[in-house]
Amino acid sequence: MVIGGMPALAVTFEPLFDSQQNVTSLAVTVRCDAYSVQANQPFLTMRKKEGNFDLPKYDDATNRITASDDKGELPLKKDLDAGALVQTWRASRASEGQIVWTFIAPPRHITETTPGGARSDLRLDQGGIIGSFNYFFPRPTPSYPEQQWKVSVSWKLDHAPAGTRAMWTFGDGSITRSRLSTVDDIIHTYLAVGPLQGTTRAANDGISDGYGTYWFGELPPALLGFEDTSKDYFQKLSALYQDPLSATNSYRIFIRRADPQVSFGGEAFLRSYCLEWSTEEIGFWTPLSIFMVISHEMVHNWALLKSAAEGPSGNDGRTTAWYNEGVGELHGITLPWRFGLISTVDMIKALNTNMQAYYTSPKINMSNADVVEHEYEDSNVQLLLYNRSTVYSMLIDIKIRQATGGRKSSDDVIIPLSLRRLRGQSHDEAEYRECLKSLLGTDSDLDDMLRGNLVKLPSSWPGFPLQLIQHDRHMFTRGYTTEEDVVTAVVKGSRAEEAGLSVGDHIISVHGVGDCIRDDSALLKVVIERGSQKVEIVFSPRSRDLVPCWQWVEQTEAT
Ligand SMILES: [Zn+2]
Repeated sequence: MVIGGMPALAVTFEPLFDSQQNVTSLAVTVRCDAYSVQANQPFLTMRKKEGNFDLPKYDDATNRITASDDKGELPLKKDLDAGALVQTWRASRASEGQIVWTFIAPPRHITETTPGGARSDLRLDQGGIIGSFNYFFPRPTPSYPEQQWKVSVSWKLDHAPAGTRAMWTFGDGSITRSRLSTVDDIIHTYLAVGPLQGTTRAANDGISDGYGTYWFGELPPALLGFEDTSKDYFQKLSALYQDPLSATNSYRIFIRRADPQVSFGGEAFLRSYCLEWSTEEIGFWTPLSIFMVISHEMVHNWALLKSAAEGPSGNDGRTTAWYNEGVGELHGITLPWRFGLISTVDMIKALNTNMQAYYTSPKINMSNADVVEHEYEDSNVQLLLYNRSTVYSMLIDIKIRQATGGRKSSDDVIIPLSLRRLRGQSHDEAEYRECLKSLLGTDSDLDDMLRGNLVKLPSSWPGFPLQLIQHDRHMFTRGYTTEEDVVTAVVKGSRAEEAGLSVGDHIISVHGVGDCIRDDSALLKVVIERGSQKVEIVFSPRSRDLVPCWQWVEQTEAT
C-alpha cells in the first residue's frame, strides 16, 4: 500500500572483499518510505528462475533477508510453495514507518559447462562484480507496473581498496543517483563495482557524462576501439528514434569476461546493455560480427513490444520476442548500412547468415508458442526464434515499401511504437497489428509466422540493391541423439556416423553448435570419453539432402 504520496526506495550497495581484495558479493540495504505492508500480505517477491538459471533464494541460515521498521525487527516468512514460479516473503505483522531490509547479493557460480542464457546474472569478473538488479533484487510488492517511485542508488566504498569504482546504468558511484522510476525499470538496469576500467568523466559537453563503457581487466584486441565507433553509432540511432542522448538521458555499456564459460553476446536492458565475451569464443568473431551484436543490443533500447503475458516479473516475457529480436536484427543489420557504416557486401553477409540458419533449421515449422516454451532447451529452437523473426521482419519491411511505392517502410511501424513506449502509452501486439493493418490492410503475415508457416520473401527489396536467389543448402542436423550425455542413437549414413561417433559414447563437451547453425561450413567438435581416453570427433552437422534456402545477392545493373 502506498501512503502519503510517492513511495521512495533508497538502495545502498557495499561490496564485500576477500583477503586478496577481490569482490566476493554485494551487501544490499534498502530503505523504503511512504510505503507500508499488512500482516501476512506479500511484501517482497522475486522469480525463482530467469530463463535457464536459478535466482538466489535467500533462505539459508547465512543469507536471509532481514527487515526492520520503526517498531524494531519486522519478521519475514517465506512461502514454501515449491510449485510457485515466484518466491514471496510476507511480513508477520503490519509495518510502521520506514521499512529497511538487508541481504547479501551472491554472484552466480560459473563453470566451463554453464550453458548460455540471459546475460543478466551477477558475476565475479577479474576482481570485481557485475550484473543486473534482475538477478538479485526482490521487489517490494505490490508494485504496479506504472507506479512511480523515488529511487536512489548509493555506494558505500569506505572499506574498499584504493582504485575501487562503482557504476550503475544511471551514473557513477561517487555521488548518490536519484530518479523517478517504476520498480520494473530499476530491475532492468546494470551495475558493476571493483577495479573498474573505462570511461572517465570527460569534457562537459553534455554527452560525455551520459555515455560510458566499463569493464574489468584488459579488453581483448577485438574489442579495442569499440568505444568510439559505438558511441558515434548510438548517437545516429538516437536521432532516428527521436530520443537524443544527454547527461540525464544517459546510456552505458557494461563489458564482462565470461571465462571459463564459453560465451559471446549481449543483453540489453534499460538505457544500457551487457556485452559478454570469453577467451575461447572471441577468436571466432570478426569486427563485422561484433558490430552486428552491438548494433542489435542498441536497437533493443527502443524497439521493444510489450509482452502480452505480463508475468510477475514485469516485461521479461518472451511472447513478443519475435518482434524484439526480429527488429533487433533487421535494424541492427540494415541501419549500419543505411548510415553508410558498413558495405552492401557486409550487410548481405549478415542478412544471409540469418536466412541460411532459418531455412536450414530442423525446427523451421515449430510454432512461436512452442519456440518460446522451449527456447532454452535447444540451440536450434533458440536460434530459430532469432532467425525466423529476422526473415519475417524483412518481409514486413519489403511489403510496406512495395505497398507504399517506397514512401514508407517498417520504420513507420517501429519508430511510432517506440515513441509510444517512451511516452508510457500502450505498445503491445494489438498496437503492432493496428499499425500493420493501416499500412498493409492485413496482419495475416504475423499469424502465418506465429503458426510456423514458411516465411517466403519477395524477389527484390525496394530501397535496397538486393536480389533474392534460391540457393538450396544442407539442413542442420547433429545426426545423433543423447540421454544424459550418453549417445543413444546415431543416424545411419549421417556425417556423425562417418566421423566415428557410436552408441554408448559418453559426451564430455560439444563445441560450436551456434557457429554451425549460423555457418553451414563450420564443423562441430564433440569430445567423448572412450574407456580412459578422450577422443575428439569433428564433423559437419548437416544433412546429405538439400532443403530450399534463399539468399540475397547484390543487384547487378542488368537486372
Ligand atoms: Zn536480442
